[in-house]
Amino acid sequence: MSVEHDYDLVVIGGGIHGVGVAQASAAAGQRTLLVEERSLAAGTSSRSSKLIHGGLRYLESGQWQLVRESLAERNLLLALAPKLVELVPFLLPIYADGQRRPWQIRAGLSIYAALANLKREALFQRLPRREWGELDGLELTGLEAVFRYHDGRTDDAALVRAVARSAERLGAELALGTRLVAGRREGESWVLELASATGERTVRACCLVNAAGPWIDQVSGRLRPIPPRPRVELVAGTHVELDGVLEHGVYYTEASDGRGVFHVPWKGRVMVGTTETPYRGKPEELAPTESEIEYLLATHRRYFPTREPKVVASWAGARVLPFASSRAFDRPREVHFVFDLPQRPSFVAVYGGKLTGYRLTAEKALQFLALTLPPKTPIARTSELPLEPAD
Ligand SMILES: Cc1cc2nc3c(=O)[nH]c(=O)nc-3n(C[C@H](O)[C@H](O)[C@H](O)COP(=O)(O)OP(=O)(O)OC[C@H]3O[C@@H](n4cnc5c(N)ncnc54)[C@H](O)[C@@H]3O)c2cc1C
Repeated sequence: MSVEHDYDLVVIGGGIHGVGVAQASAAAGQRTLLVEERSLAAGTSSRSSKLIHGGLRYLESGQWQLVRESLAERNLLLALAPKLVELVPFLLPIYADGQRRPWQIRAGLSIYAALANLKREALFQRLPRREWGELDGLELTGLEAVFRYHDGRTDDAALVRAVARSAERLGAELALGTRLVAGRREGESWVLELASATGERTVRACCLVNAAGPWIDQVSGRLRPIPPRPRVELVAGTHVELDGVLEHGVYYTEASDGRGVFHVPWKGRVMVGTTETPYRGKPEELAPTESEIEYLLATHRRYFPTREPKVVASWAGARVLPFASSRAFDRPREVHFVFDLPQRPSFVAVYGGKLTGYRLTAEKALQFLALTLPPKTPIARTSELPLEPAD
């Protein structure tokens, strides 16, 4: 006898992964509910570096598969969401006292271009010395080479809203300002207690996805039985917004500790980030620290010494990374999925991941649940759905 469900799939979290799963699920013809405690993109998904990229630096740590997949997703998003994702120049200055030599960067950019299938936009060049003086006041002392390549930039929160709008158009329901309070497995169903300002309700669903970003552990902890919870660590990343503009693109520089720091032209100002600081507090209380702001300002001043930037705003977001003793910057950035039952999961939790790869991540999460979800006729493919700004 089949069990009556209010929804085939309930997704917890209205960040990029939650809306991505809701879109993929609705496109697959599943009755879908997305539950978000606050507003869309209230968590990490509005605090990213706003790059839709393959991640050039991941080549150094051998994460080729991640780079290849991310570049393919970047190319797809450039085509599906031209008003939300744009290709912009990235400038990579190499200094005599830096950790990387020009030949290493040339090799990395060649591999990056090859993994991007050598599309025209993937090509890179070494800028002639005579052009260096025009680069937004870039420090010239010790400068050995400047490379220019292209990658994607977006408005992360606007992208989340656009994907959510697409999910809604496909029939998904969005419950914003609604919190998952508790959930339990009863026979073939997840019974979920939801609370909002207007009251409480209980819904029954066939499958459940935990896409609660830095709150993932708390959300899984509210379920019975409690699903497996791998040991993870929250790593805070701060950005500062500075007055002034950068006219020639995104600068990708090396901070004093060797970490990569982006200086991004952003809505008429300059966004500089990010830091990576282990964080043990509540995700909702995360805020930039003085030393993080100073680190970013010092890095900006080092490369643009004639500027006297004022901090206009600052914010912090948290990554979920597998626990390890190595520094956060060097740890893998692949997404990890955790299930309740390996053979026939009815629950998937999405750990970590990238804004860039959200669509593929969502499709993979759904594939894990395919045996448990009811058979339905798909109504669309996410790889073909255009995304329009929702606001
Ligand atoms: C500093 C930083 C920079 C980054 N830069 C980039 C970049 O440039 N490019 C890139 O591709 N990736 C980047 N990333 C990675 C990317 O931003 C994240 O992987 C992604 O945004 C995570 O999205 P999410 O949906 O998993 O989580 P979140 O966006 O945090 O969403 C989780 C949601 O769950 C909700 N929630 C929590 N508890 C409950 C509950 N009980 N009931 C209902 N809802 C609940 C929260 O309110 C929140 O909205 C960056 C990450 C960081 C930290």
